[in-house]
Amino acid sequence: MRRRDGRAAPDAELADADQDAPLPAFTPAVVVGTGYGAAVTALRLGEAGLATLMLEMGQAWDRPGPDGKIFTGMMKPDRRSSWFKSRTDAPVSSFLWLNVVNRDIEPYAGVLDKVDLGEISVYLGRGVGGGSLVNGGIAATPSREYFREMLPEVDVREMYDRYFPLATRMLQAEDIPKDFFETSEYYRFARVSRSAAAAAGLRTTFVPSVYDFAYMQREAVGSAPKSALAGEIIYGNNHGKKSLDKTYLASAIGTGNVAIRPLRKAHTISRQPDGTYLIRVESIDAAGNALGYQQIACSYLFLGAGSLGSTELLLRARDTGALPELSEEIGEGWGPNGNVMTARANPFWRPTGRRQSSMVVSAIDARDSDQPVFAEIAPFPAGIPTCMSLYLAIARNPERGTFTYDSGSDRIGLRWARDQNAPSVAATKSLFDKINHATMSSYRYDLFGGLKRFADDFCYHPLGGCVLGRATDLYGRVCGYPGRYVTDGALIPGSIGVNPFVTITALAERNIERIITQDIRPARPLRAARRS
Ligand SMILES: Cc1cc2nc3c(=O)[nH]c(=O)nc-3n(C[C@H](O)[C@H](O)[C@H](O)COP(=O)(O)OP(=O)(O)OC[C@H]3O[C@@H](n4cnc5c(N)ncnc54)[C@H](O)[C@@H]3O)c2cc1C
Repeated sequence: MRRRDGRAAPDAELADADQDAPLPAFTPAVVVGTGYGAAVTALRLGEAGLATLMLEMGQAWDRPGPDGKIFTGMMKPDRRSSWFKSRTDAPVSSFLWLNVVNRDIEPYAGVLDKVDLGEISVYLGRGVGGGSLVNGGIAATPSREYFREMLPEVDVREMYDRYFPLATRMLQAEDIPKDFFETSEYYRFARVSRSAAAAAGLRTTFVPSVYDFAYMQREAVGSAPKSALAGEIIYGNNHGKKSLDKTYLASAIGTGNVAIRPLRKAHTISRQPDGTYLIRVESIDAAGNALGYQQIACSYLFLGAGSLGSTELLLRARDTGALPELSEEIGEGWGPNGNVMTARANPFWRPTGRRQSSMVVSAIDARDSDQPVFAEIAPFPAGIPTCMSLYLAIARNPERGTFTYDSGSDRIGLRWARDQNAPSVAATKSLFDKINHATMSSYRYDLFGGLKRFADDFCYHPLGGCVLGRATDLYGRVCGYPGRYVTDGALIPGSIGVNPFVTITALAERNIERIITQDIRPARPLRAARRS
């Protein structure tokens, strides 16, 4: 895979991301998906010497389009932006009630998906790298206390001494240089929000990012092509962001034991009499033309298709009778990580800047209040002067939804009512009422449709559906089916209090270490011998 920042790939090119190669009839390990949990799992399996095939329903984003860029820009997005939509559907798409961003496009295997699940929609990344291709790169570690509350049976000391630092290092998270933050016009928006928070007696904190800040500083002085400083984010970054294709996945391919097959969607999973798993895989091309189905068998099957994808595969297997022993817990424990977006209008003498970096590096940290909120200070890189401050609040909401499988549509649905987000909205409102009161500012009403001040009908952080210790054992082993594992955000019960990918990565590191030691190393010679 070509590097988008012009530097050498860390271990190897992702040359095996071959869209046309046929699937083998059998491979020892299959990993479904190429997001955080999947990428960790594949790397560690590859290092352990196990031949591993990754199936990814999206594209390998490694070929430039007609404009010479891999990803489309934010302001004039083309078909590369969206997963089979005829119109883009950006989270914040209006300004002064005018739809300024969305455009009609040709349906295509684009990088950002929005899945409508009734009263809430979920934004997801599609492609080799999963959510890492479209996300804000915020590499936040949750508080020990809240992690313990959410996953009480996981050894907290081990997580914070070993797996969180490992995940942060492997993801190449870094802190923004403070002098750049304090002086750059591109972070005026964050400094203005920090002052507003301070006026209300609230603390802000820096959060690490997987963006390359040395590259960003070159963007700022005009010596490198702009990416974050050109507002690139939810439709992919052409430079600077250390997405998984540049970190874990490049290293996984570098082991020589891992291959990736893009535009391949795992559809059905069954178990054969010899205990191996059979996966029915649908192939498409980037235009969406169906190229038929193939089957692949494996001894070890890891589901890293994300909260929605992994849960859908398991619910389909259970409810169609393909894997009838699957737990009743599958589908339970889903939540949007308390996501609520809101925005404030600062007074005109506090402009937030025409130029804004798309990478978030700071947050209002009110996690120790009665209504805990971690509110990332988000940019609104509109290219015009505004006095607006935008936030993604992450509140602690105990409400949970349940996924169901609908045999008619062969899709999952979600039992989740809009008012289940009311605790998150109340906590967000409490925080920003204080700031507005202290700064004589007000909410924006023009961004989220109608007169809404709080966007509570979509999320970026879907979590749960196959909760650790409930639908799986304490290491992600799917109850009732040896050799079958969940390794992604589906394991986290709906909320983690901060942006989740570091937690997903750290948990995946913890789980796969145990699985390789206990399940794969002892059993491998037998299984490998039987098949080779
Ligand atoms: C716009 C946006 C901004 C975000 N910002 C941040 C942030 O700054 N910090 C943070 O921590 N988190 C952020 N997130 C959330 C973060 O990206 C996700 O929590 C994370 O990617 C989830 O990781 P995962 O391993 O569970 O699965 P994913 O990363 O979602 O990967 C799952 C992969 O599996 C593929 N797949 C699904 N079903 C199948 C199937 N049946 N067959 C084959 N492949 C399949 C998908 O295409 C996808 O590539 C953001 C998300 C979005 C959408």
